[in-house]
Amino acid sequence: MKRINKLPQELIPLSPPFITTDEEKAVQKVLRSGILGLGKYLEAFEKSIADFVGTKYAIAVSSGTAGLHASVVTLGLKPGDEVITSPFSFVSSANAILYCQAKPVFVDIDPETLNINPENIESAITKSTKAILPVHIFGYPINYAKIKKLAEKYKLKIVEDACESLGATYKGKKVGNFGNLAVFAFYPNKQITTGEGGMIVTNNKEDYTLLKSLINQGRGDSGQWLSHDKLGFNYRMDEMSAAVGLMQMKKIKYILSSRKKAALYYKRILKKNNLIKTLRDDDTVYSRSWQAFIVLLDKSIDRNKTMAILKKNKIQSKPYLPSIHLQPYWKKINASAGRFPVSESTSASSLALPLYTDMKQSDIEKVCLSLEKAVERARR
Ligand SMILES: *Cc1c(COP(=O)(O)O)cnc(C)c1O
Repeated sequence: MKRINKLPQELIPLSPPFITTDEEKAVQKVLRSGILGLGKYLEAFEKSIADFVGTKYAIAVSSGTAGLHASVVTLGLKPGDEVITSPFSFVSSANAILYCQAKPVFVDIDPETLNINPENIESAITKSTKAILPVHIFGYPINYAKIKKLAEKYKLKIVEDACESLGATYKGKKVGNFGNLAVFAFYPNKQITTGEGGMIVTNNKEDYTLLKSLINQGRGDSGQWLSHDKLGFNYRMDEMSAAVGLMQMKKIKYILSSRKKAALYYKRILKKNNLIKTLRDDDTVYSRSWQAFIVLLDKSIDRNKTMAILKKNKIQSKPYLPSIHLQPYWKKINASAGRFPVSESTSASSLALPLYTDMKQSDIEKVCLSLEKAVERARR
């Protein structure tokens, strides 16, 4: 299995995709077939994800964001309805709620897992709360037992944002099985890619039928292409993307284990440095799928300076992730802003380092050496 996409020579990149001749050949086949949409690769890719995650149904969509939007639409929310979610996430998870005129209610995160803290959820539940939209951030599964208990007690739906967590497990069960619906994403910086793309998974037949229609312009199941039952969207995935996705899934085990190996090597090297905290991997309950390699810098370290030094040493890094409620556009929305100190302090100290399939050990060593020198020089 050999990467055919060129890695940049001038720097160690953050998260390039892993493309082989399999993907190249499959896309060529699609192009030569002339069937560029709603073809057999789409069906096969959906089946490969459903089989891997262990759900009855999977629905390919044009992006993770599209998948989250369509999923929240199925909840049938009314203006003023509330959905509990994490402020420490990529903006899509909260935006999907805003698109439906509902109100995202943020609940602060757990400083160890960086996921929504289940202990803080109950006090945020009101009469208007209809659902919880937890995010398995950086591929680390949520505390499913506690969230499920609350969802049952208050009759709330769960939509998982699993966009960063294909292959992660909680008590041996893959993420994607914890809610009514779950969404994966396949942008090039995720574990597997289709270019742009995403996948909704569910075990519920009604949700499946509804979503199939919603993402295909609200078409009914009469088979009439120009008959639209409801207001829908064009969130379909094209056949070239599906072909790439299917080929990526053929090597999913290799991709996940290669990323994990790289992450564990990072952790081993950085373990002794008490200015650089790395994220949890496995214990008996939680198993991470390594989408990104994030470190939390000690309060005494200037992150911007650290990044500037890394950049000089030709290493890409990013301040993943800013808290959603502090984003500039949020000032105008202010749906449920407030202070979320754990999310905010995590956002201020977190740094993503290069992590990708087949990353060379020598490059990991180079990043670590550079980072350790950088934090020494970037002390405030
Ligand atoms: C990537 C990502 C998304 C959105 O996926 P797109 O395919 O880029 O639309 C949503 N939520 C999280 C947490 C993500 O990381």
